[in-house]
Amino acid sequence: MFQVSVEETFAAAHNLRNYKGKCEDLHGHNYKIRVVLSGQELDSTGLLYDFVSLKQVIRSIIASLDHKYLNELPPFDTLNPSAENLARHIYDQATRQLPPSPNGAGIASITVWETETTAATYHP
Ligand SMILES: [Zn+2]
Repeated sequence: MFQVSVEETFAAAHNLRNYKGKCEDLHGHNYKIRVVLSGQELDSTGLLYDFVSLKQVIRSIIASLDHKYLNELPPFDTLNPSAENLARHIYDQATRQLPPSPNGAGIASITVWETETTAATYHP
């Protein structure tokens, strides 16, 4: 099994609904995300997946979130913009947009850091 990963960052504001604590109030994070792809086979170039096309997809997803108030954006206008829900949202968007891999590589996980020490990971 091979795995490759890319990381990107973005800044956004949010607040958590139905949460009793500091995160109930409007605040921001410098989010970091890591996308991990895995697969059994490499292509004829010796790659699991082309980083360039992976980064293009991730950057276009992040562009829709960067410097936004997440609670105003679907699906977070109804779904709480927790790190967990952000990870699943990015997974759903990335699997829809990522060009199919001829050698069967796919997204294994998405991790979203809200701070340097707190992160949530979604595994499909
Ligand atoms: Zn927060």
